[in-house]
Amino acid sequence: MGGMGSGGHNSKGRRTVEGQYRLDASDLKRRGLTRNGSVSHLYWKGSDTAPGPSLKVVGGENAITLSYAWRRGDDLWQKHEERVGLHHHARQFGGCETYFLCPKCARTVKRLYGGGVRYLCRTCHGLVHASTQERPGSRATRKNQKLRRRLGVEIGLGDWIGPKPKGMHRKTFEEISARIHAAESEVYDDMLVLLNRMQRTTERRSARIGVRERPKDFWR
Ligand SMILES: [Zn+2]
Repeated sequence: MGGMGSGGHNSKGRRTVEGQYRLDASDLKRRGLTRNGSVSHLYWKGSDTAPGPSLKVVGGENAITLSYAWRRGDDLWQKHEERVGLHHHARQFGGCETYFLCPKCARTVKRLYGGGVRYLCRTCHGLVHASTQERPGSRATRKNQKLRRRLGVEIGLGDWIGPKPKGMHRKTFEEISARIHAAESEVYDDMLVLLNRMQRTTERRSARIGVRERPKDFWR
């Protein structure tokens, strides 16, 4: 899994949950990967330049085993194997919910993330949610609304912001209008950034299960 986790940082440089390849316990169970003795291959699409990681998953009642190749940067590929415990919790109205036991801290978690050589929980990898940091767009939206209130116009984006309120100096009105326009373009810029990110995250999340042949140099 070379290059994994190289992206997915928030504005403060912290790695985000959204930027990592992830395993979801319910998803794996639903797709039959936790079935006792089942052998499946799981792989992610990755980016245009680098393929995503592949995992071999051997199912089991109380644990699954992950096998995969990993390398740091351009180092040689190394084979890794990790046993991940499962916890089944009976639901109130029938059926059961499956959880992973994080291989490092043994916490019961719904998801594990591939933020390094091991698949661990969010806390062990020190991942944060991208949304925990305020987006520039939220700040700009608040600023925009505050300025619009000063002009007594509707809260919104891109609507006409005239006419000048009675008793307000033209210069003040023009200055506030200019600040509204500036704030709005900031909001639009941030929307674009978010849209691009969502698209990349969706591609990354859509892990597939396949019988794809293992690349010849996979374990090298
Ligand atoms: Zn953990």
